[in-house]
This record gives sequence, C-alpha cells and structure tokens, in this order.
Amino acid sequence: MLQQTGVKAVIPYYHRFLDRFPDVRTLSAASVDEVISLWAGLGYYSRARNLHVAAKVVMEENGGEFPCSLENLQGLPGVGRSTAGAILSIAWNQKTPVLDGNVRRVLARLFALEEDPRSSAGEKKLWGWAEALTPEDRPHDYAQAIMDLGALLCLPRRPACDRCPLEGLCRSRALGLAQEIPRRRSRKPVPTRTQIALILCRADRHLVFKRPLEGMLGGLWEFPARTVSSEQSPESAAAALLCEFGGSGEPDFAGGIDHAYSHFRLVLRLYRCNLEKSHRVEEEGERRWLTTEELEQWPLHGAHKKVLPLLHRDSEKKLAHTKVRGREDKNYLSQSAEKSEGKRHQTVEYRKGGKFSDKI
Ligand code: SF4
Repeated sequence: MLQQTGVKAVIPYYHRFLDRFPDVRTLSAASVDEVISLWAGLGYYSRARNLHVAAKVVMEENGGEFPCSLENLQGLPGVGRSTAGAILSIAWNQKTPVLDGNVRRVLARLFALEEDPRSSAGEKKLWGWAEALTPEDRPHDYAQAIMDLGALLCLPRRPACDRCPLEGLCRSRALGLAQEIPRRRSRKPVPTRTQIALILCRADRHLVFKRPLEGMLGGLWEFPARTVSSEQSPESAAAALLCEFGGSGEPDFAGGIDHAYSHFRLVLRLYRCNLEKSHRVEEEGERRWLTTEELEQWPLHGAHKKVLPLLHRDSEKKLAHTKVRGREDKNYLSQSAEKSEGKRHQTVEYRKGGKFSDKI
C-alpha cells in the first residue's frame, strides 16, 4: 500500500484490509472483487491485484510459508528489488539494500548525484551507495530509519536540513544544492483525454458497470463511459452511447470532472438522462442499477467517485421539489376543502333561501 502512497492516506485502508484479511491464507481465499473493493480509492490498483496473486502463489506453491530469499521474493508479482530488500531487512533483519523513492532522494542528496536518478548511470550509483551503506548490524533499523528520513525530513521540495542528523555529512547541503538535487528530467507534457459518462437514472437507481479485470482500473466500477474521438463532439458521443441503451435524443449536460492520472489528464463530461421505469436494461453479469447510497459503498474508481456529489445534489433538489409540491398540494387540498366547505354553507344558505339546488 505504501508504494506511491503516503502513510496518512494508507492508514484507514491498512486497518480495514487487515481486519478482513488478517493472514495470507484469508487473502488468498478471497475473491479479487472483494480485494479490489477494499482497495477502492487508494489508486494504483495493480498493487491490489498483484498482492492477491502473490498470496495465492505463497499458499499454493510455498505451502503458506512467506519466502525469505531475495530471489524467491522477487518471483512474486509486484515485488521488485527494493520491495524485496525492504521485506528482507525489516521482516527478517537481513542485510539487503532498500532503494524506494524516499531513499533515492536521500542518497542522491547525500552524495550530490549529478545524473538523473532514473538514468542507468544514476541507478547504478544509487544501488552501489545503498549496498555500501546497509550495515551488517541492525539492517532492520537502518532500512526503517533511512526510509523515514526521506519521508519526514529530506522532503522533495523543502528538505528540513537544519533538523537532519546527516546535515554534517551531506554534500548537497554543503554545496547549497539540496533543493536542486535530485536533478529532474524535463517532463513531457501530460496529454489530455476527453471522455463522456452517462448518468442513467431509472426509479432513483443509476446504471454502473464493472471494468474488465485486465488493464487499467481493472475490476473497479464506473458509469457507462466512452472516450470522445477527435471526429466527435462530446454531445454526439453521449447521444450515441445513450442509443446503445435504447434511449434517444440528446442527454442533458450535467457538469464536468477533472482527474489526474500518472500518464494523462482526464476531462470527463457528464450527461444525465432519466429512463422510464419500463426501460429494459436489466442487471446481468457485471451490470447493476444502484441507489446513490449503495454507490457510496461501491468500488467505483476515483474519477467516477467524483460523480457522487452530483447525485446527492440531484436527490436533494428532488426532495426539496417534492416538499414544495407536497406543500402546494396540501394548500391546494385545504383551499379546495375550504372552498367546498364554503359552497356547502352557500348551498345550505341558498337552500334556505330556496333559490339554488344542491348542484352548485
Ligand atoms: S541534510 Fe538536507 S538534503 Fe541532506 S540528507 Fe539531510 S535533509 Fe536531505
């Protein structure tokens, strides 16, 4: 969970996950859907899928014993050299180097690395330093300490050098380059993709689909969506998608969402359409009609989770409208009652006068 994600964000997920899967046996026996649903919101979902497959491998090929050699650990899906090193040093107190993002930054600054840390020359130097610095004695404490130093003091933008125990040894600090190192690669501009999503509503329920397990966001759920091609307008893409569900016309534009992925920026345009109760798009396979409350608990992926406030606003408006209608109806009813009461009096009075019949 901590690959690419900070501790603070991970903590609630970690507790929920361990409550449900306290050991490797329980995790291996679970369905991938359940694993993904407990991961939903944390991002980088291949980690969840890899962890699940790794648990199966440990159970099926290793009799439930967790591997404790670098080679066997690196054979598990999702476990690279640095993760294997962290497991071996922290769990088994073995002298194996760790080089996660935090350690890379600390070492790059400590030795004032001039190369791009992701280049092969930079990578080679960093692993060399990581190996040389990992001690025979208490490698467990060393691994934990250097990772925490990077996470808490040697921060990417503002390293807290004046509180750092390595201040006197650090070359970047001495050269006044702490903020410039690691040297950043010139980044390619992030491309933008435009998609449309249909909020199809039928009797207060919304249609969602599960994405195929393989590929990006695999196993997570979303509203019906399509990428808008360069030849299409979002409106025509939304109308075409509505057609696939037997609807017609142009759905209403309901708002836009911006979502950043590591390799592209998503601009998601939302279109809303109410379908008749009789409309036939039934639940089958990986398709569900769910209420907003159910969707709150459902493993939607990040961009489509952002749709939920819109659904809540819609429900509130509907409720307010119903209340106003209810009040109006009530007023109307009481006015009618008063009127008919008045007419009854009239009738009675007029009857008394003998001028009008009951038909008034
Ligand atoms: S002195 Fe500053 S730059 Fe050097 S390791 Fe410590 S926090 Fe990082």
